[in-house]
Formats: sequence, C-alpha cells, structure tokens
Amino acid sequence: MSTVLCDPPYRDVFTVSGRLADLDENDKLSLLSKPWNDAHKYKFPSRFIGGKLRHFNENWLKSHHWLVYSVSMDSVMCAPCLIFSNGKSRTLSSTPFNDWKNISTVLARHCVDEVHKNNIVMADNFVDILNGKKESIICKLSSTAKETVQHNRHILAKIIQVVLLLGKQNIPFRGHTEERSNFMAVLQSHAQTDPLLANHLQHGKDNARYTSPEIQNELISLCADQVRQQIISECRKSDFLP
Ligand SMILES: [Zn+2]
Repeated sequence: MSTVLCDPPYRDVFTVSGRLADLDENDKLSLLSKPWNDAHKYKFPSRFIGGKLRHFNENWLKSHHWLVYSVSMDSVMCAPCLIFSNGKSRTLSSTPFNDWKNISTVLARHCVDEVHKNNIVMADNFVDILNGKKESIICKLSSTAKETVQHNRHILAKIIQVVLLLGKQNIPFRGHTEERSNFMAVLQSHAQTDPLLANHLQHGKDNARYTSPEIQNELISLCADQVRQQIISECRKSDFLP
C-alpha cells in the first residue's frame, strides 16, 4: 500500500476512470520539474508479465528524469511528450506504458526519438519561463510594444512643448524653408540635450517624424482646443460668472 508521504510529488496524470486528467500549469510544472525522490519507499505492485512476477523499478526514474509514474494505472509516461505532443497517439506520450519486461528497450528507443528531443527542449523552456528564469515571447513582445509607446510619447511631448512655446510667445512657426523654420530651430535646440529626440529627428521615418507642416497645424489645433477647454473650465469655477 502506498502512503501519502511517499506518493509522487505530482498529480496522477489519470483520473479515477483511467482517462488522462486535464492538467493546469502547476500540474505541468510539477510533472516536468519535481523528481520523485521517495520512490524507493513506495511498494510498487507486482504483476505476471511474460511468465514472471515483475514490478516497476524506481531506478528507471533516476536514469530518465522525464519519466513520471501513475499510481492509479501502475504505468509510466514521458512528461514532456505527454504535455507537448498535442494528443498524438504515441507510447509514453498519450499511451501509458507498463510492460516492465520490455521497458528498457522502449526507454532506450524513446531517448533518441526526435519528437521526444524537441519536447524536452520545449519542457526546459516552459520550466524556465514559469520559474522566472526566462521571459516568455508574449512578455518580450509586450515589453517591446511598451517601449515603443513610451518612446513615441516622449517625442510627442517634446514637439508639443515647442508648439506651446511658439504659440505663447507669438513666434511664427514657419521659415523660408521647412528645415529652417522657427519650429525646427527650437526643436533642434532641444535635441542638443535630448539624445532620443536627436535620434528621432535624424533617423525617424519620414511618415512618422511628426514635424511636417500638416502635423504642426494639427498639433496647434489640438493645443488650442485644450487651452480653450481649460479657460472655459476655469471660468465656470469662477464666482464672477453666473
Ligand atoms: Zn518523450
């Protein structure tokens, strides 16, 4: 009889009805990364196989770190193949194995299987990501997107700062040419102490530099709206107006 103390440190991969259980991320992490160190304390059931009474040998777990044992089925599975083979019917992945007479041959064959090797790599990545040792692709993509948003906000804030300054001082935006306009002169001046802005003005894409006369007009109009709204809001709060 097994005791709770020496049972595997992962959930049995089979339900009471013998079907594969639904595994959540914690189950998968346990199956892939928690070795059953107490297996030697467990009394494995014996069965007649090939005319001889045989039982599972815990040393097979030690020599194959990916092997997991199901107490309910007295069978073994390959954890990486079980989790990453997408339900393809294969021995040790979707089909439990308990022919202890032939297990050495089956394990040796499984070790060199290309699908198994790929699943081992996926399992290592999965464990590293869940243990925080590696960033997932989703996190990488979202952090890149976040950096882009922050960068664009910074550039736009600088450009709007120049629009507000010129507007406040009644300085015309345009010059003889677009490059020699007052707007660009002030912006270039800011760029001398702002490497991000300098890089944007020098290498930014033509259609996303936010410095064209059309964008200037749009920003002037947006800033004017904001200033107008602010004035209206302050007037409404004033005691002098009804
Ligand atoms: Zn495998």
